[in-house]
Amino acid sequence: MRKPLVAGNWKMNGSSASNKILLDGILAQATTFDSADVALFPPAVYLQQVEQALTGTSIAWGTQNLSQFMHGAYTGEISAPMLNDFNCKHVLMGHSERRCLYAEIGLDQLVLDYIIAEKYSMAVQEGLTPIICIGESPEEHAQGKTEEIVARLLNIVIAKNGIRSLSQAALAYEPVWAIGTGKSATPEWAQDVHFFMRELLRKHDVEIAESTQILYGGSVKGDNAAPLFSMPDIDGGLVGGASLDANEFVAICQAAASN
Ligand code: PEP
Repeated sequence: MRKPLVAGNWKMNGSSASNKILLDGILAQATTFDSADVALFPPAVYLQQVEQALTGTSIAWGTQNLSQFMHGAYTGEISAPMLNDFNCKHVLMGHSERRCLYAEIGLDQLVLDYIIAEKYSMAVQEGLTPIICIGESPEEHAQGKTEEIVARLLNIVIAKNGIRSLSQAALAYEPVWAIGTGKSATPEWAQDVHFFMRELLRKHDVEIAESTQILYGGSVKGDNAAPLFSMPDIDGGLVGGASLDANEFVAICQAAASN
C-alpha cells in the first residue's frame, strides 16, 4: 500500500506574517490528516520560518527547485547541501513554470529533461527526496503527445540514475493546461496517465512500480480532490493555488488521508 502524499507549492507567494497564519491554520488541523504524508514548499527565503514552525510535527518541507551543481558561481541558485542545512526532506523539480522560464532563454525541452535528470541525481546523492513534475503543454495535449512527453523524461531519469533510485523519489503528473487554470484533468484522464507511468516503471522493476507515489497536480481543490485521489494510481496531489488557504489545503489533505 502506498501512503498518499500532498505537496503544497506556495510558488512566489507569502510574507512572514501571512505564512504564520497559514502554518498555524494547517497545524491546528494536522491530526485530521494523520494518515497522509504532507509537505510544504515555500519560497526559499522562508525556509527557516517554515522549518521552525514544522519541526517536531508530521509535516515535511522543501524547496521548489534546486541546482544540479554542488556550489559555485551560479547566481540565484540553491544547492542540495543548503536544503539539508534547513532539514528539507523533499525538493520539487521540473515544474512547468520553471520550464517556461528556461525555455525563454533558449533551452529546448529535451535539454531541460537532461538538466532535470541531473538535478534529480544531485537530490538523491544528497539524501533528499525529489518530486519530479512531468506533464504535457496544451499544444502537446491537443496533438495527443501526452505519453510521449511523460515517457521521455522518465526514461532519461531512469537511464541516468537507475530505476532503483526511485525508491527515494516521487513523481507528479502535472498537465500544464490544468495548472492554475481552474480546469483540473478529469479523474479518468489523470488515472490513465498515471497508469501509463506506473506501467513504464513496471517494465523496469515491479517493486518500484508498486511503491512509487505518483501525485496529480493541476487545479486540485477541496471539492475535486476526493474523486481524483480515489483513482487506483493517484497517490495524492501537488497543489498550487489551493495550498495558500489553510482550510482548502486541509480539506485536500483530509481527502488524501481518507483514501
Ligand atoms: C502547481 O503549482 O504545481 C499547481 C498544480 O498549481 P495549481 O494547483 O494552482 O493548478
